[in-house]
Amino acid sequence: MKSHLQTIPRKGVDRPDYDVIVVGASCAGLAAARTLGDQGLRTLVLDSRHDFGTPERTWIVTPKLSEVANCDIEPSVIHRTGVMELLANGTSRRVELAQPDLVVERGALRKILAREVESAGVEVRLGGRVQEVAVGSRGLAVRVRNGASARITTRHLLGADGSRSVVAEAMGATPQRTVPIVQARVELGDRYDPDVTRVWFDRARTRFFFWLIPESPTTGVVGLIAEKPSNARQLLEDFLEEHGYRADEYQGAMIPLHQPRRPIEWRARESRVLLVGDAAAHVKVTTVGGVVSGIWGAQAAARSLVVGNPYRRELRALHRELYLHDLVRWFMDRFHGRHYDLLLRLLNRELDLLLRTNNRDSMASKAWSLALAQPRLFLLGLDAFVRGTR
Ligand SMILES: Cc1cc2nc3c(=O)[nH]c(=O)nc-3n(C[C@H](O)[C@H](O)[C@H](O)COP(=O)(O)OP(=O)(O)OC[C@H]3O[C@@H](n4cnc5c(N)ncnc54)[C@H](O)[C@@H]3O)c2cc1C
Repeated sequence: MKSHLQTIPRKGVDRPDYDVIVVGASCAGLAAARTLGDQGLRTLVLDSRHDFGTPERTWIVTPKLSEVANCDIEPSVIHRTGVMELLANGTSRRVELAQPDLVVERGALRKILAREVESAGVEVRLGGRVQEVAVGSRGLAVRVRNGASARITTRHLLGADGSRSVVAEAMGATPQRTVPIVQARVELGDRYDPDVTRVWFDRARTRFFFWLIPESPTTGVVGLIAEKPSNARQLLEDFLEEHGYRADEYQGAMIPLHQPRRPIEWRARESRVLLVGDAAAHVKVTTVGGVVSGIWGAQAAARSLVVGNPYRRELRALHRELYLHDLVRWFMDRFHGRHYDLLLRLLNRELDLLLRTNNRDSMASKAWSLALAQPRLFLLGLDAFVRGTR
């Protein structure tokens, strides 16, 4: 990549402290910082957390993670599952994946990315909360609180600070639409096959779903995406009790839903502010998964800063995927319980083959093949549209 940022003054009072400051040292921020550092940009990563390992979070992702992270992520993979079992109102279907899903521990992945960032010559400062972002005549300035308060200047800013992004707020962005995710670590018991991830659709409790993801031969996480935070934990506790599981520990947070029209880029003179990851709501709204898409978008932002291409152009491939998820979610939001039932019954051999052999993070080019593999999906969509719930 040829950098267009070499025009930044290298000496004198006009030179900001950094070429790029990345706020947020989780997966999206670290992935972007590594690319920026590799291209020789003076980059600083700031995070309010004091270490990379906590709090723990179990993720399920497709193997596309290694491609977008562009490094050896194997040490963060704690388990693999080869079967996805879908359940709704007594109907169930199994999809045997050609390439198993990866079950990844967040802290371990962040540590791998942090090492990559360090070798790219990027500076990382933990334990400092960014409180303010200001646009000045010589670029941008962030105020960081770490005991004392410090002001650091930068040419460009990446907001990788999650769904309640301070960077987005400083730019005047409207708050995100978010939903709560909560999951509990449980013992699986002798009869559970640790190669199977289960997904339950239960329309009476949530328009999203419940899951059980094994994270070792003996333990797993049971969780749900709920509609509002006030009853998320109670819904999960009821579900655990019904299925005979006991929670050893809970993990949870608010996750944004993709909002295509919400701005994620601002320009001020020669400076640019870009949002990435959850801060940009780069989240697949069917599954509310944001790890692969967040890192993918973060790499696009870094490339955009390095090469000088518009961010939107760099995001085209990711947007195609996210728009497909937006469309599917639009229909699923209108599903009654029996629509899920029907959806599973429509899973014929052709559809099963497509789902089995294609990566869920690269489905946009397969959208028509999916619809044509089971033309009755159109009727299902039409019925949901006409008689839908929302
Ligand atoms: C329980 C649970 C399970 C999930 N499971 C999956 C899954 O299986 N698959 C999947 O793809 N996705 C999953 N997700 C979603 C996934 O966790 C997020 O999409 C992903 O973490 C987004 O990463 P990020 O780097 O954008 O932001 P975040 O992980 O939110 O990180 C933001 C970082 O910014 C820092 N920060 C915030 N504000 C400031 C500030 N003012 N100053 C300095 N630092 C700041 C924070 O400390 C944090 O380190 C799950 C989420 C939850 C809650």
